[in-house]
Amino acid sequence: MTRSERQELIDKGLLLPLMEEFYTIQGEGFHKGTAAYFIRIGGCDVGCHWCDVKESWLAELHPPTETSKIVENAAKFSNTIVVTGGEPLTWDMTQLTTQLKAKGLQVHIETSGAYKLTGTWDWICLSPKKLKLPTEEIYELANELKMIVYNKDDFRFAEEQASKVNKDCILYLQPEWSRCEKMIPEIVDYVMANPKWKVSLQTHKYLNIP
Ligand code: SF4
Repeated sequence: MTRSERQELIDKGLLLPLMEEFYTIQGEGFHKGTAAYFIRIGGCDVGCHWCDVKESWLAELHPPTETSKIVENAAKFSNTIVVTGGEPLTWDMTQLTTQLKAKGLQVHIETSGAYKLTGTWDWICLSPKKLKLPTEEIYELANELKMIVYNKDDFRFAEEQASKVNKDCILYLQPEWSRCEKMIPEIVDYVMANPKWKVSLQTHKYLNIP
């Protein structure tokens, strides 16, 4: 396959830079505790300094993989598929989600929302980042808003983002992992004073699973 042929398939979402895939327990947010198969797609240029998957950033490091193969494999493991990254919306998710839905699977996405929403999703976890704000359209569609709290200014940012989502969207504050000790007491106080928010923790890290 020539480079341009490969690029054409990537542009159509028929090839995706697959970083890793694994069956585990969803550790965060609304579906915490649910067994799910994770598909991690490489590529992200949002650039969060505290990102815990910096290895995902460069798409070129991850093999362009046929979407049909990703789907075939995922379907063997779970009825619940979580597409994450990197930033999966860097790519056209139409093919991947159409094929997953054709297998009758529940398809979730974890995204910063920084790029156009493509694909068909049963659950959208929107986690906005200051460096590249979400597109306007995704606020209406998000099922949960997961705000990462690294410092106090993140409470201000969280409120700003919460004012933009739809009324049914569930609101979570989640401490950035390296800042848990410092920020958990602040988050606890904040949620008690502002109970529209719930606390989310990265329980998979406490469980020592991926
Ligand atoms: S958006 Fe996600 S993957 Fe991208 S840099 Fe930020 S935390 Fe990392």
